[in-house]
Parts: sequence; structure tokens; C-alpha cells
Amino acid sequence: MKRLVVLAAALAVPAAVLVRTAGPWRLMASRHGIWITPEPRPSCPRCHGAGGWWDGDPTFPDMEACGCWAGRRSLSIPLLPYRVGPAPF
Ligand SMILES: [Zn+2]
Repeated sequence: MKRLVVLAAALAVPAAVLVRTAGPWRLMASRHGIWITPEPRPSCPRCHGAGGWWDGDPTFPDMEACGCWAGRRSLSIPLLPYRVGPAPF
């Protein structure tokens, strides 16, 4: 039932985007689609919820993503296509 309410709310308002975070997951829904993506875990002993850390040469640091969210699967369900307008240039 909750899924139907979320889907109906996303489809009722044209430009609305619903974003909810439940534990280590983020749900985003709009009329263009529904996305469920992993979030960093606040209790992760490696990143402490930050999602990663900076690594490598201090002048050119690289972001190292933590495995508590980077390797997990995500789900996207496309609904309505995006309208592509003319190019601005
Ligand atoms: Zn982590």
C-alpha cells in the first residue's frame, strides 16, 4: 500500500521529486522514474558514514569509495520519457 501512495504522489504533481532515505537506501521518485540507490552506512567502521575517503598524492587526491555502498546494486524503473527541447546553442 505504501508503494502505491509513493507512486501516486510522484505522478500527481508534475515537477515534484520525492526523496526518502530509509536506512542504507535512498528512494527517489518522480513522474520520470523511480530510483532506489544505496547510501553509506553510518555505522561503517571504515568510512563512518562519509561514503569514502581521499587517497593518493595530496596535490591530486582521488576519492576512494567505500564498499559499504559503492559495490551494492541499485534499481531504476523508468516511467515517462524526458522531453528533449532544442539545443540552446
Ligand atoms: Zn563505508
